[in-house]
Amino acid sequence: MIWDKEAETAIRKVPFFVRKKVRKRVENFVADKGGNRVTLEDVRALKKKFLSKGGMESEIRGYDVSACFGGRGCPNSVAPSSAQLVKDIDALMEKADILGFLKLEVKGDLKFHHELRVSISDCPNACSQPQIADIGIIGAALPGITAEPCTLCRACVEICPEGAVSLNDEGPEINTSTCLACGKCMGACPTGTLDTDKSGYRVLLGGRLGRHPRLGMEVPDILSHQEVLDLVRRCLEFYKTHSRGGKRFSHVLESLSQII
Ligand code: SF4
Ligand code: SF4
Ligand code: SF4
Repeated sequence: MIWDKEAETAIRKVPFFVRKKVRKRVENFVADKGGNRVTLEDVRALKKKFLSKGGMESEIRGYDVSACFGGRGCPNSVAPSSAQLVKDIDALMEKADILGFLKLEVKGDLKFHHELRVSISDCPNACSQPQIADIGIIGAALPGITAEPCTLCRACVEICPEGAVSLNDEGPEINTSTCLACGKCMGACPTGTLDTDKSGYRVLLGGRLGRHPRLGMEVPDILSHQEVLDLVRRCLEFYKTHSRGGKRFSHVLESLSQII
């Protein structure tokens, strides 16, 4: 989607706490009209709707599932199928009727900060900030060592941003406690000595910003697409069972062991 200069200037004046939402809605609004260019008039129309009385609440879906740009061709992406994952998690949210649940639980107007947030990044660079989402998901490709002979070329050592690869006389060793499963070493290996051992997603639960911020806690292991969906479904059940009065997911995670 292309933004006119005036439209871009106007969107920067929208209050920061709704700017991302308004930007997304403006692009959807233009796409629904069959356009691919955002004008100043488009921004004004949506801004007015958002900031009018009751306008914000009418835009609240109860949850937000967002993703980084990995699916649109970012070369760092190692997520197997994040576009489908967004759709599948969206369907789980609808089925769980998170919006209906929040309407029952929250006294007064629903606000964006009540929404349950899922953020997906296609690689450990984490551009969509999954660490501070209720449920953060990060694409992962874990390296494994195959039987193919290593030429000791050092490409894997040099490319690893974590210093997690070392070489002995026979080939590579991976430090699994520092490896972030970014997939770079396998891509650089010319012989196939390093190859993908496991591909999927890392998952973090219970991140948030606000007065008492905290990063999400990482679930052990790399999960498959279906395992991520199963975990999200259990998180939603847990949240609806234990959250009262609009309390955030991260505040009701004391019984984490019940869901993982
Ligand atoms: S998180 Fe990774 S894959 Fe996604 S946009 Fe950022 S660098 Fe690209
Ligand atoms: S997957 Fe990434 S972090 Fe892990 S060893 Fe390879 S290059 Fe390093
Ligand atoms: S990139 Fe491959 S061939 Fe080169 S040192 Fe690493 S494992 Fe060996």
